[in-house]
Amino acid sequence: MSLFQGDALRVERLPGDLAELCFDRRGESVNKFDARTLQELQDATAAIAADATLRGLLVTSAKDSFIVGADIFEFTTLFARTADEIAAVTRRNAALFTAFEDLPLPIVTAINGLALGGGLEMALAADYRVMSSAAQIGLPEVTLGIFPGYGGTVRLPRLVGVATALEWIGSGKPQQADTALAAGSVDALAAPAALRDTALARLQQAVASGDWRTQRPRRRAALAQLDAVAVERARAEAAPRARHYPAPLAAIELIAASALLARDAALEREAEAFGRIARTRTAGALVQLFINEQLLKKKARAYTAAARRIERAAVLGAGIMGGGIAYTSAVRGTPVLLKDIAQPALDLGLREATKLLQKQVDSGRMSAARRATVLQSIEPTLDYAAFDGVDAVVEAVVENLKVKKAVLADVEQRVKPDAVLASNTSSLSIAELASVLARPENFVGMHFFNPVPVMPLVEVIRGPRTSDVAAATIAGYAVAMGKTPVVVKDGPGFLVNRILTANFVGFLMLLRDGADFMRVDQVMEAFGWPMGPAYLQDVIGMDTSEHVIDYITAGYRERLALDFRHAIQAMVAQQRYGQKNGAGFYRYEADARGRPQKRPDAEAQALVAQLQPQGRREFSDDEIIDRMMLPMIIEAALCLEEGMAETAAEIDMSLILGVGFPRHHGGALKYADLVGLGRIVDQCAYYAALAPCYAATPRMTEMARQGSSFHAR
Ligand code: NAD
Repeated sequence: MSLFQGDALRVERLPGDLAELCFDRRGESVNKFDARTLQELQDATAAIAADATLRGLLVTSAKDSFIVGADIFEFTTLFARTADEIAAVTRRNAALFTAFEDLPLPIVTAINGLALGGGLEMALAADYRVMSSAAQIGLPEVTLGIFPGYGGTVRLPRLVGVATALEWIGSGKPQQADTALAAGSVDALAAPAALRDTALARLQQAVASGDWRTQRPRRRAALAQLDAVAVERARAEAAPRARHYPAPLAAIELIAASALLARDAALEREAEAFGRIARTRTAGALVQLFINEQLLKKKARAYTAAARRIERAAVLGAGIMGGGIAYTSAVRGTPVLLKDIAQPALDLGLREATKLLQKQVDSGRMSAARRATVLQSIEPTLDYAAFDGVDAVVEAVVENLKVKKAVLADVEQRVKPDAVLASNTSSLSIAELASVLARPENFVGMHFFNPVPVMPLVEVIRGPRTSDVAAATIAGYAVAMGKTPVVVKDGPGFLVNRILTANFVGFLMLLRDGADFMRVDQVMEAFGWPMGPAYLQDVIGMDTSEHVIDYITAGYRERLALDFRHAIQAMVAQQRYGQKNGAGFYRYEADARGRPQKRPDAEAQALVAQLQPQGRREFSDDEIIDRMMLPMIIEAALCLEEGMAETAAEIDMSLILGVGFPRHHGGALKYADLVGLGRIVDQCAYYAALAPCYAATPRMTEMARQGSSFHAR
């Protein structure tokens, strides 16, 4: 007999005056806590409370997982409210869990699969937990810039002790069943097939013995004492990252402050603190990233579904990039031909692949047998003989228009008519390259980042004549290689390097106007960039960077023109190429392990001083950040307006995955949203006299007037 039937859960009677609350979200593959589920939990709790004949409750899930957590898509609307409002909502939700926990009968939860966030908090509100040996539990909220808000910071420390709770909540890491049992967070483990019976038996035992009655008050009480050593240790660990990632430290302070309070007072603290942490920019950015990642995954699935199958591919050019592409393809299961024009080049490419594979074997991540199989699936060649058997070709020969045109036209005649050709050019126009092809519809850009095995992003560039299926096939190939493809339009610098160049333009103008590049680096690193702009030039290589900047600024001359002699030109003229020859903005000396160590260099400073007609001057942190970030935001906004990429999510993710844009700022467009478009547009107006790259677009001004944002709220 059914006591309650909803969309997300149901309650049914079991023999022996027991009931089973089963989470089984209709039409979805997982259970999660969205507004509807919370409402139904409240209704189900009331229905159970109203039936005085019930003597025990079993909680189960009908999905493969138990409950995967809160519905993160609902966070954007919730987190846009004030801290007090968020606290009020949190307080109401926590009250549902408390009402459930206080039902006058023993409750046993069967954790059959993943129980994360709110899912684990639900399980924590039961008297006993039996866990499948294959399940995992955890409170991963800090990865979203927040901490548990359904009582997790209150119930977990009371169950497992403060030290373990700090570790689990502070790290956000999921825990395996044996760890969960050892910590005391669950009472028993069971083989997956025996889980329900074991949990039911535990419930019957609780009903018969009444043991739960003595357990409960202890779990509602304050802890007798605080593990001060554990708190100090956790603080010391979280503090260095707290500036950009405040949630772990805030959770630690919350737990330290509420452990010595009784449950309800502690829950009140949690709700208040949750309201505050949810309002941080980091939470806003990380929640957005989660949503962006979901969108990218959905798109990846769609590309794969629309793609032609690639059983076998070929890579042209066995250099740094070609070698990395061939290796990545082979290791992920797509065999490749690797062609070069000279045997020594081929040997070099293969040696690189062998080195990468050996690293995996040495670290124990790959067997020697598998290494051999992967190596065999890279077939080196100096001719086109076997090219009629490939479904796709990735061209990665030297960056020279004439050479690339000749190579592409040539290879097109050696492959099947429906094979897709892709070029890993970093700058050349896809339309221009396609002009020499008989089947331009089968041609697309495939821009990898260096080093290929490490960098997750691939820009898939559609030329004006590229077909949908060719773009999907190359995007699908990138997915098969374990990469994240973003489909973009053709244009100088494509998406990522174009936006990054706007940032470089801001940097070079700052130097011209008297800034100290070491200070700019320091401010931008404190802002969250993995390296400041001067250091980044040294790593890219000044000559390469000059070439890229010249090319892209020429393409967007009206906005990005550099009409003065700038620091990168001066460095190149002095052959200060950066890390690769030991001197750039900094000086480099190899450390004991042979790795280059950055040192200040008076010569570089003198060189830059010569380019500062007004001399050196001090800049505030805010001015440095604004002058560096605004051109980037404007360029990103223009890319969105021009449809360079389809969504703000793809633009921001490209910057995060492609150039290390700080995750806690969420990408250029999310950063603008978080600062507020109104303020961004005002700052643009303030700097607009400097150069056209500081002029907000009319659309940005309009959006600011309407109070709208790049990412939907
Ligand atoms: P590289 O000089 O290391 O390698 C180029 C290879 O192509 C050489 O082995 C050369 O022998 C071979 N080659 C030349 N002509 C050929 C032909 N006709 N047929 C077959 N092979 C031929 O260059 P790289 O750094 O690997 O760059 C390759 C491409 O990738 C360029 O278009 C470059 O712009 C692009 N790219 C480079 C980077 C990077 O950081 N290095 C990043 C993204 C894209």
